[in-house]
Amino acid sequence: MKPDNDPDLRVSDLIDFNGGGWNVNLVKQVFDEEEWGSILNIPLSRFWPRDSQFWWPARYGIFMVRSCYWLARLGHLRTWALQFGARETELWRAVWRLEGPPKLNHFIWRACKGSLAVKERLASRHAALSSQCPVCNKAEESIIHALFECTYAQQLWRASEWGSLLTDDPSTSFADRFEWFNSRRDGEDVQRFCALAWAAWEYAEKVFKPSHSWNLMASCWSPPVEGWVKINFDAHISAVVEVGLGVVCRDHHGHIIALGVKRVEASWEPSLAEAMGARYAMELAARLGYMRLVLEGTL
Ligand SMILES: [Zn+2]
Repeated sequence: MKPDNDPDLRVSDLIDFNGGGWNVNLVKQVFDEEEWGSILNIPLSRFWPRDSQFWWPARYGIFMVRSCYWLARLGHLRTWALQFGARETELWRAVWRLEGPPKLNHFIWRACKGSLAVKERLASRHAALSSQCPVCNKAEESIIHALFECTYAQQLWRASEWGSLLTDDPSTSFADRFEWFNSRRDGEDVQRFCALAWAAWEYAEKVFKPSHSWNLMASCWSPPVEGWVKINFDAHISAVVEVGLGVVCRDHHGHIIALGVKRVEASWEPSLAEAMGARYAMELAARLGYMRLVLEGTL
């Protein structure tokens, strides 16, 4: 949190109750860049529970003087390390120390946490049929594959001064590779390494993976029975920190009777984005007064 903010500010002050989400501008105004991204990723309950205090150093979230004493004795970073692990803390520091646009930090952090939308991960969560790389069709699309090993990514790294990354470095995860590189190179090199990884990702996203999410699946879509409404929903995670939610309502003739599109500033996991799409569909149905409805994923 930025130091010059109102110390009495509450979580509820940051919520736009009319719009049903975070007050994005206020959250960005109150928090630092590395913090507001994480806050905006937290989906809000529609039940609007009241604010309550939660004290993480104590087991049940209830403040105790003993835990406060313990916190003060250890110091902030040590306690962070105890809560999240020393490695995580170092990684967090290294990623958020990177200079450049905040989107780069977010991208590298998501790559380190393994939360980029690659096929291997989507297939393991049943959000994609195959884990095969859609660009080269030669291997599973893991994060390491997408950022370093796929055809075009290899060309990009070979043309750089770090072609050896493709053979010598740890390839177990992006976090391992990033840590390995970070421990051996200075800040400027790490910056360029991250920019190249980001370029590889963006290039594949823009050139090889045009969005299929909004395409009408006319061939397998079937209308609801008379008197019912079928609501199809979908979520599209874009390369930047944004999720698009789309809803189409059709009657038993297959005619479109209502549409809804919403953009949310967040970097949600695919399964969470789908769930938020379903919630958006139900909210729209309630607002339009549809009582008998069939809810179905994909548009
Ligand atoms: Zn590939």
